[in-house]
Amino acid sequence: MSPILKLDAVSRVHGEGATEVHALRAVSFAAHPGELVAVMGPSGSGKSTLLTLAGGLDAPTSGTVSVEGADLATLGAKGRARMRRTSIGYVFQDFNLIPALSAAENVALPLELDGASGRTARKAARAALDEVGIGDLWQRFPDEMSGGQQQRIAIARAIVGERRLILADEPTGALDTETGEEILALLRARCDAGAAGVMVTHEARHAAWADRVVFLRDGVVVDESGTDPVETLLASGHPR
Ligand code: ADP
Ligand code: MG
Repeated sequence: MSPILKLDAVSRVHGEGATEVHALRAVSFAAHPGELVAVMGPSGSGKSTLLTLAGGLDAPTSGTVSVEGADLATLGAKGRARMRRTSIGYVFQDFNLIPALSAAENVALPLELDGASGRTARKAARAALDEVGIGDLWQRFPDEMSGGQQQRIAIARAIVGERRLILADEPTGALDTETGEEILALLRARCDAGAAGVMVTHEARHAAWADRVVFLRDGVVVDESGTDPVETLLASGHPR
């Protein structure tokens, strides 16, 4: 099965000379349909860099990033923007919702930007909100909803319209433990339905929802677990 996301020897250097920072060093990595991969590592190890490169929000200094078989570098700015609207869902830690738009309008926005009719976009948005369990709150504005409900809107926006690559940077960071688990269950369900997911987390119990854990340190993959993330966490001496 071909991967949905593939990184080949991807490096990202910020600045130059004395202030040069190697955020990622020759990282190779793939995420396949049905797979949820957790990315762990200390602060500054390159986790967010990995995700922004995977999402086409930033470009590597060297190496290639491919999504659904297409090299993001050769797509050009327009092609990458289109890829982000149609294939890639990005969940941010702080939700990044638009306060002036209702839940349904927030979710419909990427589809409308992609040229879908208002009616089609609204229908897909309602379906995505149903999928994340807040279908009845579609008319509410973000500030009328709890943190967990707001993150559900963000997840609905990331999965709307059959996106197959879901990228989540500490998606549970702003949530209490129980709500965090519910959010992870949603990501897990979407991957079970055929998407590939990559999630940054610093909590081992959250990584236990993943099929694999990739550990980064100083921009390098230092360990990649096989089938049991928790086993690997213990073996690596990582605190649970
Ligand atoms: P993490 O998400 O694991 O905390 P990041 O990917 O955000 O780490 O950052 C990795 C390294 O790259 C850090 O040393 C960080 O300071 C540096 N870095 C990230 N973005 C920039 C930038 N835009 N300019 C300069 N350095 C950056
Ligand atoms: Mg980060």
